[in-house]
Formats: sequence, structure tokens, C-alpha cells
Amino acid sequence: MNKSACIFCGSAIGNRPQYRQKAIDLAIELVRNNYTLVYGGSDIGLMRVIADTVLSEGGYVKGVMPHLLANREIVHREISEMIFTDTMEERKRVMGELSDCFIVMPGGIGTLDELFEVMTWNQLEISVKPIAIYNVEGYWNDLIKQLDHASAEGFIRQEHRDAIIISEDPAELLSKIAGWHPASSPKEWVEKLKSDTAELHTNLQNQPK
Ligand code: AMP
Repeated sequence: MNKSACIFCGSAIGNRPQYRQKAIDLAIELVRNNYTLVYGGSDIGLMRVIADTVLSEGGYVKGVMPHLLANREIVHREISEMIFTDTMEERKRVMGELSDCFIVMPGGIGTLDELFEVMTWNQLEISVKPIAIYNVEGYWNDLIKQLDHASAEGFIRQEHRDAIIISEDPAELLSKIAGWHPASSPKEWVEKLKSDTAELHTNLQNQPK
């Protein structure tokens, strides 16, 4: 059975031609590695570039779009399969269920929302799958810096930060996805959070008034 990759990316095209070119490169690599594409189902922006390239390379494309957006976003009529959902939440859930991994290309608010949703799923073990940031032209450098900062400051567990794959090369990205291992079980870090908090609480209580 083919593997499926869910691509989150901009409904815009970006200001530089490299974004489009790198979307094409990724799409070609996906088809070469027999991945089915799962994406948001639009025919605008980088979403369209990736879908059209997978189709023209002979690959299979599944779109997932909520009815709410079907009127606003432009529905891609030529993809292999389209699934309509009732809500945005259901869209993300269905995209997740259909996919074996997530790849995040340059994008805006919707793409960020989708990235953080799947990172949360992994962290809470709601569904644990590889997440890869396709760092085209260093587009995500500042976000990566923020994740490192949050980790250094104790708000993101180091193993959750380390579990995020980052590459600007599509072949490397897919090879890292193939060799990916999940972070350690949440039970361990939930227990650690509880004991850290209990210790802090005891220290505060023991402080001289
Ligand atoms: P964007 O990255 O904003 O260009 O959006 C890319 C895709 O994310 C589009 O298909 C949007 O419909 C979708 N999307 C998912 N969640 C959201 C959200 N909370 N706000 C905006 N767009 C969203």
C-alpha cells in the first residue's frame, strides 16, 4: 500500500519564485517515493503548485476541504479524490487520519495553525507521526529559533523539539521521515511536570514568612 504525505502550505504563492520551484521539487520527490498527496484541496497558491505537480508526475492527490471554505477557497476540480468535511477541525482530523507524515512548506496563518495542531497531537500522543519542516530559503528560521527558545526556557520538552525534522532538501526530508522515531512517552514527562510543580509548591510553602 502507498504511503500518504500530508502537505500544509500557503494558499498564497509567496513573493519569490523559489517558493514555487521548491514546491515543484518536493512534489516530484513525493511521487518518486510513491507517496499519495493529502492536502487542503484548493487550486490557489503553493497548494495548487504541489497538487498540479503531483498530478502531472502521475501521482495520486486527495484533497480535504470543509464546506465552509469550498465557497471561499477555490476548489481544485482535477484532483484524484476530494473529501468534504463539515468543519475546519474535522478537516484537520481527516487529513491526519489519511496521512503517514506531515510536511510543512512556507505558508501563513492556516499553515501555522496546522503545524501546531499536529505538534500538539504528537506531544499528547493523540496521534504520533513524523512532522517535517521544509525550510525553503530559510523561511522557517525564526520559527525554529522560537521553538529552540521555548525549549531552552523549559516550555517545550527537548525531545519534542528534537522530534521535528527540518531540511530544505526534499530527498533528505523524505529519508529522515522514513527513519523517524517518536519522542519518549508523555507519561514520563507528565510525571516530571507534576513532580517539578509539587517540589516548587513545597519550596514556596517552606519559605519563611
Ligand atoms: P494559509 O497558510 O493561511 O495560506 O492557509 C493555508 C491553508 O490552511 C488554507 O487551506 C486554509 O484554509 C487552511 N487553514 C487551516 N486552518 C486555518 C486557520 N485557522 N486560519 C486560516 N486558514 C486556515
